[in-house]
Amino acid sequence: MKYLVTGGAGFIGSHLCEYLLARGHQVTALDDLSTGSLENIKSIKTNPGFQLVVDTVLNHSVLAGLVSGADIICHLAAAVGVKNIIENPLQSLKTNVEGTLNVLEAAVPSGQRVVLTSTSEVYGKNENVPFSEENDMVLGPTTIRRWGYACSKALDEFLALAYFSEKKVPVVIGRLFNTIGPRQTGRYGMVVPRFVGQALAGEEITVYGDGKQTRSFTYVSDVVAALYLLSQNKNIIGGVFNIGNTEEITIRELAEKVKMLCRSDSRIVHLPMEEAYRDGFEDMRRRLPDLSRIKEAIGYSPKVNLDEALKKVIASFRE
Ligand code: UDP
Repeated sequence: MKYLVTGGAGFIGSHLCEYLLARGHQVTALDDLSTGSLENIKSIKTNPGFQLVVDTVLNHSVLAGLVSGADIICHLAAAVGVKNIIENPLQSLKTNVEGTLNVLEAAVPSGQRVVLTSTSEVYGKNENVPFSEENDMVLGPTTIRRWGYACSKALDEFLALAYFSEKKVPVVIGRLFNTIGPRQTGRYGMVVPRFVGQALAGEEITVYGDGKQTRSFTYVSDVVAALYLLSQNKNIIGGVFNIGNTEEITIRELAEKVKMLCRSDSRIVHLPMEEAYRDGFEDMRRRLPDLSRIKEAIGYSPKVNLDEALKKVIASFRE
């Protein structure tokens, strides 16, 4: 089949492109290389089944042409990273909302399947873990920029579901929990590449706040396998699915684990949240998915545990 992967030169997008090519599909990646890179796609760029188009999802005509030539669209192009979103709110909101609207609109004439990648951010500071897909969104005030990201992705979901019910675009939504793996950069604030980079360089490992906040990390190969199944299964159209891993860890424990696995002498230090991020910030205390729905629908369960995932990330940093 012919896949269009928006954000195909990004961290997760590039792994998805590789996965699709390995299964014999043709892949066009659309990426503006703002946070994606040519480096990410160097292993596939000469593959005859692969094509990169350097442009943005905000360009209607280019997008419409690419969508019309595809059977399935995996829409991953979006603003990346809490730090980035807090520093560039306007561009982030525009890319997320207008970009998704453009993708959905472009799929109306021929009704291509659209796999929308959403995020666990939409659960916000709900403390009712584990999060199942019907849980409430609990977001803070509009003066706190972080919630703009959650809100923009929630709006993407509303748009996708509206295009499904009113325009018959076959959509499926995957809510990604913290994904980690090779090619993820610490530049946009993500904790695992930051800790690994710090530990390997012998620098201080910076835990923000008390470190008792938790996350559950999913290895990127599990994420792309789930996205693939969501893109192929006929019975799940219009559905919303968590994609994650149920192994929960505090950020302090994560710092200790990374330090140990890197055999590093780095000191672990705590920085106040206000120092780490500029104003407009609020952190969530726990984040853990309920995976029953995706397990039942497509048989998904994560294969890579946190230790293995961290070892792979560390190995990729050492390369
Ligand atoms: N974090 C940290 N040190 C860092 C980067 C992040 O302690 O150098 C914390 C951050 O405050 C949050 C957690 O790690 O509590 C996960 O942060 P990330 O930005 O990776 O993901 P998200 O907040 O979107 O879950």
